Amino acid sequence: MNDARLSLLFAFLNSHDLDDWDDALVPEHYGDWVRAAAANGLVDGSEGDAGVLLARLAALAGDPLAATTAELAAMRDVRDGLIAMLLDEDDATLAAVLDGLARDLPLRLRVPEPGRVELEPAGAGPLAIAAAALVLAHDAAVDGTWPRIRLCHADDCHWAFVDRSRNGSRRWCSMGDCGARAKARAYRARQRAGV
Ligand SMILES: [Zn+2]
Repeated sequence: MNDARLSLLFAFLNSHDLDDWDDALVPEHYGDWVRAAAANGLVDGSEGDAGVLLARLAALAGDPLAATTAELAAMRDVRDGLIAMLLDEDDATLAAVLDGLARDLPLRLRVPEPGRVELEPAGAGPLAIAAAALVLAHDAAVDGTWPRIRLCHADDCHWAFVDRSRNGSRRWCSMGDCGARAKARAYRARQRAGV
């Protein structure tokens, strides 16, 4: 899977870091969430272009004012389902939950050129973002990238990264990134507390 597509998947997976300051993802903050999520996609292991990633995510996000609370909740459930699947791949209940969510996502088949058929999200909005993420997860499974996608084992981190170590034993994102995010969280907590 190329870095541009991987960055889009990581932007989605790593957006769990944003829920503490955007009031758990409500329509009024959806536009900000999109911009912040795009910034979270460019983690180590993916070298995509930040501007291209933001444009792609914004196009998928659609009109922020048209998003509904229910759509945002479904998008978040798909994200949390994928995260849980990365943490424990053998959970059958989890697969059933994701399967139920996937049933309502807008997807269509495209034939971009002779001999090639692709699945892609239809339209724009939170459900289109969730649909894109599931397509990317599917593509990653097909091309062998999925087993290499890991979540940092630090309890307050869980950021996605690609394990490119030869024996596939990496358990942590880069310590520098972990530290920077811990500082950002502390800063936001101080801001909320008005300190
Ligand atoms: Zn980490």
